[in-house]
Amino acid sequence: MSGRVYLVGAGPGDPGLMTARALELIAEADAIVYDRLIPATALDGARDGAELIYVGKEGGGPSMDQAEIERVLVQQASAGRTVVRLKGGDPFVFGRGGEEAETLRGAGIPYEVVPGVTAAVAATAYAGIPVTHRGVASAVAFVTGHEDPSKPESALDWAALAAFPGTLVVYMGVKRLAQIAERLLSAGRPDDEPAALIERGTLPGQRVLTGTLTTIAQAGEEHGIRAPALAVFGPVAELRDRLQWFERRPLGGRTVAVTRARAQASGLAGRLRALGADVVEAPAIRIVPLPGPVPDLSRYDLVCLTSPNGARLLFTRMFDAGLDARALHGARVAAIGPGTATELGRHGVLADVVPERFVAESLVEALAGVPVTRALVARAAEARDVLPDALRERGAEVDVLALYETVAEALSETERASALKADYVTFTSSSTVRYFFEALGSYSLAASVRLVSIGPITSKALRERGLEPDVEASRYDVDGLVDALVEDVGPGD
Ligand code: SAH
Repeated sequence: MSGRVYLVGAGPGDPGLMTARALELIAEADAIVYDRLIPATALDGARDGAELIYVGKEGGGPSMDQAEIERVLVQQASAGRTVVRLKGGDPFVFGRGGEEAETLRGAGIPYEVVPGVTAAVAATAYAGIPVTHRGVASAVAFVTGHEDPSKPESALDWAALAAFPGTLVVYMGVKRLAQIAERLLSAGRPDDEPAALIERGTLPGQRVLTGTLTTIAQAGEEHGIRAPALAVFGPVAELRDRLQWFERRPLGGRTVAVTRARAQASGLAGRLRALGADVVEAPAIRIVPLPGPVPDLSRYDLVCLTSPNGARLLFTRMFDAGLDARALHGARVAAIGPGTATELGRHGVLADVVPERFVAESLVEALAGVPVTRALVARAAEARDVLPDALRERGAEVDVLALYETVAEALSETERASALKADYVTFTSSSTVRYFFEALGSYSLAASVRLVSIGPITSKALRERGLEPDVEASRYDVDGLVDALVEDVGPGD
């Protein structure tokens, strides 16, 4: 029996603009046939074993021949598979989805169409330009400015477009902008008509230029605007001055590198993205759990956890040994900060002690009034000895349990190149400092890059390399780091 093909729009680039239906179908598909202009994370939800077929189609110029793409669809579906044909924006707006549907119909293969948010409404919305606006524009036309070699030059009626009573949104190859503006002008569109050019709309690197029908092409060239981009002609383009919002988000337009371990980066990266930052993940370290037994926990009246990783891995070891939270019943449990306390909470343990400031010295102070005879400090192999030393000084017997090692992670060429260009590089521990600079090798950061440190120990590690942190969090955790970064950027205009 034949399978089914879903012609699915993936939206304009921001992963958040993919529809619920698109995500659902991607998760179910046996094969996904996709173009270049789909969100970076669009295929993350594909199931294991799904065949991912790149057909490299961008804009109007397919690199796999359209007929070939259609053959692939027919072939996959004929083999009984559920096929998602994933396209940028909407499949039926300059996406040749109609042609694919015709071929499928001809081959007797059932299909469905899942619309997507098309670039003309998405890029404009993210640029603060409503394509229609009461009293300003009561109609909008989507126009293709792509050259299509199979169409005669006269495919577009420029006189009719120039006379169109409303906004024109032109999907186009940037190189054609001057020619398009020229045609509209000579066909009678007013030369001072407001115009906007939007590059990579809805994506972190979105750029928007405004001008008039006469000036916009020149501006695009001067600023090196590249595909994908679209042009807007009409008085609504001016509304951007008042309505722009994307660039006004706290970290809008800023590139921020995250150097912490990949497994932990997502929390910080997600927070930064939500505030508008373009996040570069450049994980310089990796956490490697160390094997080993669990000591007899009933011997301790104090158990200290000095990092969320430590907390997590202590429980991994305990579970492996057939133990759970009850094994800690006889001890007070101290956490170095709220992240560690949260991790303990996940395993059913409420921390008894969490200091005000999240460094070992503060934990020592917070423990001042707590009676201790035997303590267990569970932590990274290479952690500082401040806490065990201080407890020993107080007469306690202290065992140190090394749960993991932090090791260097090599950066890929792309990760390194992106990190070198970032506006901010964030460091969440002294090991991220050490390994990030090791990973840079002979490359060095531009002097304009601002270094963000989570707290005094990390700052010290920077200073030891002769680097002064530009921003230091006043609360030594991820939230504190994000707050400090937002404050450094300052209020927008
Ligand atoms: N089916 C797609 C359009 C495909 S044609 C849709 O509905 O959006 C490709 C053209 O769309 C590009 O050349 C560009 O003009 C426009 N485009 C696509 N994504 C864009 C984006 N993120 N920002 C600006 N223009 C975009």
